Amino acid sequence: MSRSFAEELRNLHEQGLYRSMRSITGSQQSKVVMDGREKLLLCSNNYLGLADHPQLKEAAIRATERFGVGSGASRLVSGTMELHESLESRIALFKGTARALVFNSGYAANTGVLPALVGRGDVVFCDRLNHASIVDGCLLSRARMVRYPHNDMKELRRLLQENKGQRRLIVSDGVFSMDGDFARLSDLVALKREFGALLMIDDAHGTGVLGATGRGTAEQFALQSGIDIHMGTLGKAFGCFGAYVAASEEIVDYLVNRARSFIFSTSLPPSVIASCLAALEIIDSSAGADLRVRLARNSTMLRTGLQSAGFNTLESETQIVPVMVGAAEKTMEFSAALFDAGVYVQGIRPPTVPAGGCRLRCTLMATHTEDEVSRALDLITVTGKRLGII
Ligand SMILES: *Cc1c(COP(=O)(O)O)cnc(C)c1O
Repeated sequence: MSRSFAEELRNLHEQGLYRSMRSITGSQQSKVVMDGREKLLLCSNNYLGLADHPQLKEAAIRATERFGVGSGASRLVSGTMELHESLESRIALFKGTARALVFNSGYAANTGVLPALVGRGDVVFCDRLNHASIVDGCLLSRARMVRYPHNDMKELRRLLQENKGQRRLIVSDGVFSMDGDFARLSDLVALKREFGALLMIDDAHGTGVLGATGRGTAEQFALQSGIDIHMGTLGKAFGCFGAYVAASEEIVDYLVNRARSFIFSTSLPPSVIASCLAALEIIDSSAGADLRVRLARNSTMLRTGLQSAGFNTLESETQIVPVMVGAAEKTMEFSAALFDAGVYVQGIRPPTVPAGGCRLRCTLMATHTEDEVSRALDLITVTGKRLGII
């Protein structure tokens, strides 16, 4: 008898792993309306609060009026508009690379770039906690995928000694999306040099947020030139949509010719590109620096508060602050109780995190006020105590 979808859905329910969507009324701000009531939003990647910024909206509206709503084709056919080229030059300048290439999303970038860079006969070294889109990109590439324990540089070294191939690529998140900790960037750069491998960093959560000027994790550790392929997204701190890859002239030229998600997909519309350009102007200005200071202040406030209350926040050092729970049902109960109390923070379960590692993934925004962070802290603490988590 064939497996039925209904039965598999029932299994998900029984294991506490069933997922569904919750909808938000109105725009993405630090407070949102859900089910007709105001909730403090504590699980958005709109870290700088740019998703409804007046300058970004204005840019999108103007671009729509001038250039229309659709790009009409993929980039290599007739879908390259001047706006795409402006954004790419601007991103290359921002990241300090010869060139940059815009992709339609971070998922599309990783599943396009990895299979372009490595294939049969090559080896890709992948941190166990890398984002799902990296894992999918590695699988799609048909290269041998060697996964190393999270941030375990000794083991990575051993695996590099053991696994030879024509081309070798190390790929890692810059900031890990569910733990909020950093990759060991200086070790990764040293290892890639020692073993003649390429290094790709997915900086979805560092771009716009980290480093004095928002250039990301590599700027934070002053290691920009040690990375061969910088990838980042435009839907998180940028508040828009899309992704970029910044690299040498040669690598970008190669990706234009080989990255299938770039070649075989209609390019982003003018409104999105124009709002990304506007976001970059803010991120690269003193206003951006102010937003980063506020975000860091909020993150430290919540993280240290949760730690003193007795919660386990793993090795988080960023605006991503996990609150460890363990079991799936308990995590969802915690999330639901907080929702009733007025805080929306989603529970995270397998396969997004390892089994037994279920958690609330709190994310801060620059636009949260100190009062809001303090209220969130109080509610998480009171609810966590009531549920026996601390
Ligand atoms: C969100 C995310 C992606 C996917 O980016 P989208 O633009 O949302 O498709 C890729 N990598 C990491 C580490 C992410 O957190």
